[in-house]
Amino acid sequence: SSPSPYVGRFAPTPSGYLHFGSLIAALASYLDARNAGGCWLLRMEDLDPPREVPGAQAAILKTLEDYGFAWDGPVVRQSGRLARYGEVVERLLEQDLAYACTCSRKQLEGFSGIYPGFCRDAGQEPRDAAIRLRVPEREYAFVDRVQGAFAQHLGREVGDFVIRRRDGLYAYQLAVVLDDAWQGVTDVVRGADLLDSTPRQLYLQELLGLPRPRYLHVPLIVQTDGHKLGKSYRSPPLPAERAGPLLLRALRALGQRPPAELGKACPRELLDWGIAHWDAGRIPHCRTLAEAALD
Ligand code: GLU
Ligand code: ZN
Repeated sequence: SSPSPYVGRFAPTPSGYLHFGSLIAALASYLDARNAGGCWLLRMEDLDPPREVPGAQAAILKTLEDYGFAWDGPVVRQSGRLARYGEVVERLLEQDLAYACTCSRKQLEGFSGIYPGFCRDAGQEPRDAAIRLRVPEREYAFVDRVQGAFAQHLGREVGDFVIRRRDGLYAYQLAVVLDDAWQGVTDVVRGADLLDSTPRQLYLQELLGLPRPRYLHVPLIVQTDGHKLGKSYRSPPLPAERAGPLLLRALRALGQRPPAELGKACPRELLDWGIAHWDAGRIPHCRTLAEAALD
């Protein structure tokens, strides 16, 4: 049988505007998809209304258009998928694969983020409680196309994790797995800050009988002080008039070698060059790149 056609995606969170780091993730996923002759989908991960910046969704779409990106089909919004997430959480509770947790933040202090299991066998009411997924005492491993072999022991390194918060908001880990499968995504290309979310997602895929996509995690752009770009301060939207130079800089950050004569090219031409010459093998094999060290 022929290999399944490539389906890629970009999945921004509207808690801020696109910044240079998210441009790199968008560009890598776009070029990898188009170079393979595949589709490229756009999904708004708007799961957390209190943290959403008003106007960010529209600004993200505008920036992508200004920078020459064209996505396939309508934009999917996670805010429109809550019923599906809810059904899955209910089923996991019925199967006792998940349980209600009423631990306070204070009770969980001093466990370095690894849930100590206080509510594991307490059989509490799911109403007004967080819902945690039981993790198996085993390692989940995969081979990333850039980062190489990566493994985590879910019991020891992660612990039972929240899939629905006490305030009713669904967790990224659950939504991303359900939506990637629902949209038929074959290839996840995203920032390396999500490398250590991947084993949790592999477990969810296994549990829910969903296919495992291929993964490619691009280096995360960090400020010189090591902070993730765009998180410690609110970056303004990427300026439309800087699309050319910033796309060139992003191509170089991804190890691609655009020729000097592209210096004056428009965004569409830069992307077309990128699609034709894309070589994922040149992406730096590291988890972070300092912004100051780029060109
Ligand atoms: N929404 C996530 C973010 O903006 C990305 C999720 C993903 O690509 O899996 O960091
Ligand atoms: Zn608890």
